[in-house]
Amino acid sequence: MARCFDSVVVGGGLVGLAIARGLTREGLRVAVCDEGDRALRASRGNFGLVWVQGKGADSPAYARLTARSAQCWPAFAERLRGESGIDPALAQPGGFDPCLRPDELDAKAALMARLQAHTPEFRYDVLDARAVRRHFPDIAPDIAGAIHSPRDGHVNPLKTLYALCAAFQARGGVYLPRHRVTDIAPGNAAFTLTTAAGALECARLVLAAGLGNAPLAPLVGLRAPVTPVRGQLMITERLPPFLPYPTPMIRQTDEGAVQIGESREPAAGFDDGTLPGVLAGMARRAIRLFPRLRQARIVRAWGALRVMTPDGLPLYEESRRHPGAFIASCHSGVTLAAAHCEIVAPWIAGTADPGFMENFHAQRRALQTPAD
Ligand SMILES: Cc1cc2nc3c(=O)[nH]c(=O)nc-3n(C[C@H](O)[C@H](O)[C@H](O)COP(=O)(O)OP(=O)(O)OC[C@H]3O[C@@H](n4cnc5c(N)ncnc54)[C@H](O)[C@@H]3O)c2cc1C
Repeated sequence: MARCFDSVVVGGGLVGLAIARGLTREGLRVAVCDEGDRALRASRGNFGLVWVQGKGADSPAYARLTARSAQCWPAFAERLRGESGIDPALAQPGGFDPCLRPDELDAKAALMARLQAHTPEFRYDVLDARAVRRHFPDIAPDIAGAIHSPRDGHVNPLKTLYALCAAFQARGGVYLPRHRVTDIAPGNAAFTLTTAAGALECARLVLAAGLGNAPLAPLVGLRAPVTPVRGQLMITERLPPFLPYPTPMIRQTDEGAVQIGESREPAAGFDDGTLPGVLAGMARRAIRLFPRLRQARIVRAWGALRVMTPDGLPLYEESRRHPGAFIASCHSGVTLAAAHCEIVAPWIAGTADPGFMENFHAQRRALQTPAD
């Protein structure tokens, strides 16, 4: 006999768990089923930024969603800590994107200007090397400058994931590991899911399986044009605090280690391994920016696969053919975790409509295929 829930979320990563926790707040009985340790899991290998600068330069809706998520993060982190007993270690001191060359700085400044043109509340400064050194006394003196934006920050991504899972369960949610979904049968009033550990039934279904969404979406009349983009990262031994702000490539974690990343390698396909040449290049740039890293020991390096749409924007949509089935995929699941819980989950539950979700449908122009 199938186990019945109001809602089943497929995928126990940052996206699925943030939405699932939000759905429990709407009073629904929710289960999350997850494939397990052998699956590709971006949520366990990412860089941990809550990053606003540059996001949505060409999409006001995405800029708005990102800004609202960053704004929601402090209260969201506080609630997660209260419900789970785990501190996601949010720090939002503002972020800096240091540039070694003037042309690099000019290109980034142009991107920020584009973003601000349609989202005036987005704040940023273009700083010269002297101004940057006032914030980062240890940065190389000969950089061109940096972009600074006050809403940027970072979390401990693994603690965030565990906090979400614990908070979800504390609210009565049922977490089902080793439940890989292999088939979905849409019925009149319910969806029946075949999993590796028995059948599940629900009225509302959320596909949040990361790269696993691609084969599942067509089963409920949806499309998930997501592909992997590998990132390689590495982490040093714990060091005394010297990086007071996160940057897109180097940040000091709440535990003192310095995380260095991240490459962008679409050609790697589904290979989530590491390459010495790529790691060495990242280490060289990190040392070039912060020379004191020359003495630091690297303790671990890994690769992880981003969940990427062709235009880089998230995908949120309800199936027209099978209402009640939703899809959620994005490549900034840390940044958007607060929005997934506070904005996307109520939209899925049908209790609130933020008014901009149609911008994230798979029918948007950039995601059309010649056959559409
Ligand atoms: C290198 C790197 C750096 C990143 N840095 C940042 C950053 O700094 N800031 C930021 O905001 N974002 C960052 N991201 C992106 C962020 O990690 C992802 O957006 C987020 O983790 C995606 O979460 P997800 O839940 O969609 O996918 P995943 O974490 O991949 O989770 C999907 C889950 O679905 C499960 N699953 C798959 N198929 C099935 C199935 N058939 N049945 C049941 N379960 C299934 C898997 O077990 C898995 O647990 C980064 C990503 C990478 C790779």
